[in-house]
Amino acid sequence: MDSKQLYQEVILDHNKKPRNYGPLESATHSSEGLNPLCGDHIWLRLHVDDDHIDAVAFEGQSCAICKASASMMTMVIKGKTVDEAERLVAEFRSMATGELDATSQPNHLGRLVVFAGVKDLPSRVKCAILPWHTLHAALANDRTVSTEGDQDPVGAPE
Ligand code: ZN
Repeated sequence: MDSKQLYQEVILDHNKKPRNYGPLESATHSSEGLNPLCGDHIWLRLHVDDDHIDAVAFEGQSCAICKASASMMTMVIKGKTVDEAERLVAEFRSMATGELDATSQPNHLGRLVVFAGVKDLPSRVKCAILPWHTLHAALANDRTVSTEGDQDPVGAPE
């Protein structure tokens, strides 16, 4: 299976059966993510205990790429420390914008590299990144994040 086929399989699978989808009653952190360009609108809720993300759930209305990205993100970050999750936010963002070549440069993205191809689809980059921006905002206790505007929600000026 080539990477394009794998990408399509993953998007279809997670879109049909999103993982960790729904509310989270015990959430300690939450954030709402908006991507007006596409209409993606998600809520992400986390339960962080002793610096570990021990529960995570998302819900909302979004396109297939955003939903698949959110679904895979929740699987990957569960059990991770806050620092590990933030590192993944930075790496995913770099990969999706083409700064990081996840197939040749070292990273911790694992199966998330399936999203590497979005860098060639400029209109989809924000869809794929939205859940990660929302995660970053939730961990920073920002209630709402939007991909709209000049402000980069992840910041990280160099
Ligand atoms: Zn979208």
